[in-house]
Amino acid sequence: MAARVLPRSLGLLKLALNGSLYGQTAVGKFCTASGLKTQVALVTGSTSGIGQGVAESLASRGCNVILNGFGDPNAIKTIQNDIESKYNVEADFVDGDLSKQEEIQKLCQQIDELYPKGIDILVNNAGLQHVSPVEEFPVERWDLLIAVMLSAPFHLTRHFLPKMKTKGWGRIVNLASIHGIVASPNKAAYVSAKHGVLGLTKVVALEAATSGVTCNALCPGFVETEIFKKQIEARAQQEGCSYNEAKRLILQLVHPTMEPVGVDQVSEYVAFICSRAADQMTGSIMTMDGGWTAR
Ligand code: NAD
Repeated sequence: MAARVLPRSLGLLKLALNGSLYGQTAVGKFCTASGLKTQVALVTGSTSGIGQGVAESLASRGCNVILNGFGDPNAIKTIQNDIESKYNVEADFVDGDLSKQEEIQKLCQQIDELYPKGIDILVNNAGLQHVSPVEEFPVERWDLLIAVMLSAPFHLTRHFLPKMKTKGWGRIVNLASIHGIVASPNKAAYVSAKHGVLGLTKVVALEAATSGVTCNALCPGFVETEIFKKQIEARAQQEGCSYNEAKRLILQLVHPTMEPVGVDQVSEYVAFICSRAADQMTGSIMTMDGGWTAR
């Protein structure tokens, strides 16, 4: 559940009347035209990994953030508190299982109550994997992966795009994957969802082209998250080799650079997309794959 439901505009007015907000006047803070101050970003799947990094990076630029995802409530509260105290921004958590349309609707309603003028940045990042040959692929896992990584970005874009258009500025960033461009065996649902979200990206980009709202997708190769580290540890155990040797074995097949992508590098891409330099970038499919698709 959202921790606060007082609309941010009313909250600000109250703070402005009462005095200072984080040591600055509310008016001062929200009129500063640097970084992403005054902006609001929803980052789905931001309770861990890439999403958490992206949310923190946007917050570090002055953006208020809305977190979403699964996890231990105390751990999520700690992420919120850390972001708020480090960067002097609001960090709300809005609960919602993105595989369920009714929960997406509730999440959208809660965000509308918090920010009646709408959000400015939508990062569709939540995701999960299931590995299985296609003829054994469990139908419910197919439905789940497609729901979270293709249908949820559609529902959220559908809901938040109109107010971005009204404001004349908005950024939609879809965290796809190199598996939006190439395939690997046993990943039917993941590869299909990621290919699909690239199509959605291009359609939204064209439909919003004259509105000041852009829609772009990033396709990373292996990103150095906890999941990747666990994969390396498992490989090290399986091969009876060191962590670094297992990392080399995994990367040599796909990343010519022999390095994984850093979460900070994905975050910097999102920040760039949100900057004026990227005003004319829309419908783009950016790879960040250590050379995977150059072969
Ligand atoms: P992660 O498991 O650390 O994060 C996934 C996030 O999505 C978590 O916060 C989780 O709670 C959330 N989530 C999952 N199912 C959800 C649901 N039904 N409703 C709401 N939230 C849900 O993984 P990550 O590596 O940080 O991946 C983030 C995104 O980046 C994913 O879309 C993934 O496909 C993509 N990606 C990751 C890599 C990589 O190597 N890690 C590479 C390319 C693309």
